[in-house]
Amino acid sequence: MARVVGDPGNPNKPTGYGPPIPPGKLGLKMAKAFEKLGWHWWPADYAILTQHKDNRLPCNACGPCLSGCPRGSIGSTNVTYWPKAIRNGVDLRTNARVERINVGDDGRATGATYIDRNTGERHEVRAGIVVMCANAIGTPRLLLMSAQNGHPDGLANSNGLVGTHLMFHSWAFEDFWFDEPIEDYKGPEPASLYSQEFYDTNPDHDFVNGFSLQVGRANGSAYTAMGTTSSHLAPWGEDHRKFFNEHFGRHVLVFVQGEDLPVRTNRVTLDTKVTDSSGLPAPHLHYELPENDRRLIEFGRQRAREAAEAAGSLIDSSSTGVTGVKDHPSPGWHIMGTCRMGNSPEDSVTNKFNQSWDVPNLFIVDASALPTSAAVNPTSTLQALAVRCAEYIKRRQQHILSQKVTPSNADAPSF
Ligand SMILES: Cc1cc2nc3c(=O)[nH]c(=O)nc-3n(C[C@H](O)[C@H](O)[C@H](O)COP(=O)(O)OP(=O)(O)OC[C@H]3O[C@@H](n4cnc5c(N)ncnc54)[C@H](O)[C@@H]3O)c2cc1C
Ligand code: SF4
Repeated sequence: MARVVGDPGNPNKPTGYGPPIPPGKLGLKMAKAFEKLGWHWWPADYAILTQHKDNRLPCNACGPCLSGCPRGSIGSTNVTYWPKAIRNGVDLRTNARVERINVGDDGRATGATYIDRNTGERHEVRAGIVVMCANAIGTPRLLLMSAQNGHPDGLANSNGLVGTHLMFHSWAFEDFWFDEPIEDYKGPEPASLYSQEFYDTNPDHDFVNGFSLQVGRANGSAYTAMGTTSSHLAPWGEDHRKFFNEHFGRHVLVFVQGEDLPVRTNRVTLDTKVTDSSGLPAPHLHYELPENDRRLIEFGRQRAREAAEAAGSLIDSSSTGVTGVKDHPSPGWHIMGTCRMGNSPEDSVTNKFNQSWDVPNLFIVDASALPTSAAVNPTSTLQALAVRCAEYIKRRQQHILSQKVTPSNADAPSF
């Protein structure tokens, strides 16, 4: 899988890491603040190389990761898995919009029907084993669109759970500036370091679960001028230079990433009116931030401000216009839940190896299978689960290819 780098001493992380990305001037400033407050911290873990791997270069801290990494350092699948998969014979079809997962008379999946978005033609692909990975909105939408004989409410949905327990991570950001340059543009943006001081449930709080505090970097000069995350827009005209000098290279972004509760009524369904450009029903999202998460995120925002104050940032110095803090609406953008995995077909959509309880040769391998959200970025966990599922399919391939649709599918399988 994509190599993850981080600090090997971190008790929350597996061993075998590459060396971490240095926290930089900005990170060390915030680390001192955390220490002053008695909070632990670690250099952030990343799926970004700090050493050569294959023909990919290590990160050189140039900064604009969100526009794509020119060095191939970020472990996105276009540079990790896909080149190898294609070399091994995988037939990759792009612009293929899957309309339906098909099922035979025996209740087993037989493949998928997709629409070629260039020509509008429909094609059927047949498969002995079908693996879905359209993520936590696309996958339930496709399962619900796959209602057919024997599956009137959608595929893999005999218990009505497909689409439910949608989660996003509760989020808040706080922007802060300092009166000295801290090289905020050097290094990957999402996080320099983090603290999980408030990660676990604390009975003294009025909420359950907890959050990570991530110290993020800025994104360079254009980002500064455009107001960073809190829209402190640089003015036009003669004040522009003053604003820019006060803001550029002096910015810290603290993310509060909270664990989002899985709530059954937060869900994806099929829209009854809106369609996509192929005429297929659009996904309809119903989501309300749980009151628990609202309290959690408010507590987290206060801690982020506390950290900024401890670091000596210029919050509230509004006379200079270098003020931080803007209320950013929760939730965030990590889509999770909706086809939860579990130990019983009564309360989950897949078993612990991402295998559908209802359709034994159908696997759901994306963030929809997560039953809880944790308070960390999800993708490395998703990749680990995908690799685990791939190993399971490889080992049990013959069994899966002949597995019948019977109540015995409910038996929890072993590796
Ligand atoms: C703004 C943003 C920032 C993020 N930052 C981070 C981060 O810093 N760290 C982290 O760990 N995670 C981050 N994430 C989350 C991360 O992007 C996801 O966890 C990850 O992309 C999930 O990978 P996936 O392959 O399962 O799903 P996706 O990457 O969402 O891929 C699903 C694919 O399925 C396709 N699809 C859907 N329906 C159909 C259909 N009917 N037919 C054909 N194709 C279909 C979609 O077009 C898409 O290409 C971020 C997400 C966002 C939106
Ligand atoms: S900072 Fe980002 S864009 Fe630059 S090399 Fe590192 S990962 Fe790539």
